[in-house]
Amino acid sequence: MTTKTYAGSCHCGAVKFEADIDLAEGGGRCNCSICRKTRNWSASIKPAAFRLLSDPAATTDYFRNGAVHWPFCKTCGVRAYGHGDIPEVGGEFYSVQLACLDDVDDEALAAAPMRYANGRDNDWWHEPSEAEKKFL
Ligand SMILES: [Zn+2]
Repeated sequence: MTTKTYAGSCHCGAVKFEADIDLAEGGGRCNCSICRKTRNWSASIKPAAFRLLSDPAATTDYFRNGAVHWPFCKTCGVRAYGHGDIPEVGGEFYSVQLACLDDVDDEALAAAPMRYANGRDNDWWHEPSEAEKKFL
């Protein structure tokens, strides 16, 4: 495992963070109700690997299904990260939007394996259909 520290932010810059990510672990795409609508592509990391550098008050929390918090920037609306605690997937985690990393090399991002999950059916260990994978 080779983690690298990346800087990330929302669009307007009111939300800034630092995250230690191993891109070789890949990024997840999922077809659950929120991931599909937001085209979520994220790396899941432990809380200690995530550091929010901006005022938490810059975000509004969206916490609807009781499992994952999805804060988003009050100014620009970009949802740069989420966090939650799901024992089935190893406990507490932060989910960092790979598209919100500011200093990542395009080639390195493109080389990150794509991991798909059928979250819509709570069937996390299987992939959605090939058709659906194309637009997640
Ligand atoms: Zn913003």
